[in-house]
Amino acid sequence: MASIHFITQGCSANQADSEIMQGILREKGHTLADDEKDADVIVFNSCTVKGPSISYFKKKMKELDSQGKKAVIAGCIPQSNPDFEYLRGHSLIGTYQIDRIGDAVEQTLGGNKIVLLGKENKTRLNLPKARINPLIEIVPILQGCLSSCTFCKTKHARGNAFSHSPEEIVRDISWAVREGAKEIWLTSQDNGVYGLDFSRNGKEYMNLAKLLMHICAIPRDFMVRVGMANPKYILSMLDGLISAFKNPKVYKFLHVPLQSGSDKVLGDMKRGYTAADFVKIIRRFKKEIPDITISTDIICGFPTETKGDFKKTMEIMKETRPDVINISKFWPMQGTPAARMKQAHGAEMKERAKEMTELHKKIALENNNRWAGWEGDVLIDERGKHGTWKGRNFAYKQVVVETEAFHHPMNGGLHGQTTMGWNAECSKTAGVSEANMPPARDRRPPAVFDSKENLMGRNVFVRIYKGSPIDLRGRVLNEVEEK
Ligand code: SF4
Repeated sequence: MASIHFITQGCSANQADSEIMQGILREKGHTLADDEKDADVIVFNSCTVKGPSISYFKKKMKELDSQGKKAVIAGCIPQSNPDFEYLRGHSLIGTYQIDRIGDAVEQTLGGNKIVLLGKENKTRLNLPKARINPLIEIVPILQGCLSSCTFCKTKHARGNAFSHSPEEIVRDISWAVREGAKEIWLTSQDNGVYGLDFSRNGKEYMNLAKLLMHICAIPRDFMVRVGMANPKYILSMLDGLISAFKNPKVYKFLHVPLQSGSDKVLGDMKRGYTAADFVKIIRRFKKEIPDITISTDIICGFPTETKGDFKKTMEIMKETRPDVINISKFWPMQGTPAARMKQAHGAEMKERAKEMTELHKKIALENNNRWAGWEGDVLIDERGKHGTWKGRNFAYKQVVVETEAFHHPMNGGLHGQTTMGWNAECSKTAGVSEANMPPARDRRPPAVFDSKENLMGRNVFVRIYKGSPIDLRGRVLNEVEEK
């Protein structure tokens, strides 16, 4: 048996693929090496979404080749570009063949080169898994999408939508929750098209909103994070999706990419929706779920984007005030229609990305500061720095949690108010809706945790005292009893 080290790039769908491949190899008796120097074989699960991921791939492959390391190259690069010069001499396994990782590693150990790039759709669920974080189950509900965005290379690797059945997904999640997972991440290239490739008597009968209801019916304590979904498909199920998001098991977190605020540019990108569609979705979700966290994606410097187009994007960001803006500078990806367009000027693109970043920081800080004074449950899912912990609240806000005794209001704590005497006045200081403030009976004197205590997977009751552009800061008031 061999020791294998994984290098994983890219999105949570690629992370899920690495967890499955690691699970299969472990089940075959191989060991997983944390450090590449201790490994007999490196599995490089690659990403092709943007220039920087390709640059890192090239640099790393040069390094591994110079050390004569045995490597299996997996993921979106070999699947979308099998003749790429940096793949020469290595075994290749594509995005459809991850269940064959055992063969690829054994052949490579034997000094052979194997190429597995066939495009048969196979299940990715209920397979052995080595979770990077045991509390988090990443569930690839489908592979591929139904769009052909002109800038996108991922489509070449992940293809058209192939959804897993709701029964398979419910079985996978039930198993993961029994094993201790507390957060369920639904992921794919576009969760909005889930189930649209299923039809009964020519009629669609499944979609993301209906799937969420199936998942939330699983008895046990867990939270669901819904990954990225395109506006075009969200619009087609808006009412159903909003009511599914109201389920207490669904994080109030919506990731909907806009990419550009200009309809002309959206047309050139072949995105299939308008800026007004995006605004309508955000307005509806914010009206029905006031404290929802909004995440979006923006491309700066798409070839046909003018100053005026970019200004429109900035206006839409000011109007919809997303909490998270994933900003990308445009990259001409080989083989995509946008790469054949006349490219925008590099300096101009940089300037636009800088302007968008500054706006994002300002909006995110203002949005997060309105949480100061909020009290509620936080599920701890990560260790923080300097003895702190990190967790997520109902709106999937990242909270950095400090455990030392909270300055009890009786001792003249924050706002100089007493928790015992906490009243509606206090909730006014916290910008969040009263509906999301816990009833008074939960506000007991703070608990003191031994700093060595492991809080992973535990729900703690926290009070937020400030926000930052990326997260919230809070102190533990007490531990929440498991239901
Ligand atoms: S939706 Fe568009 S950007 Fe996303 S994977 Fe599909 S083609 Fe690429």
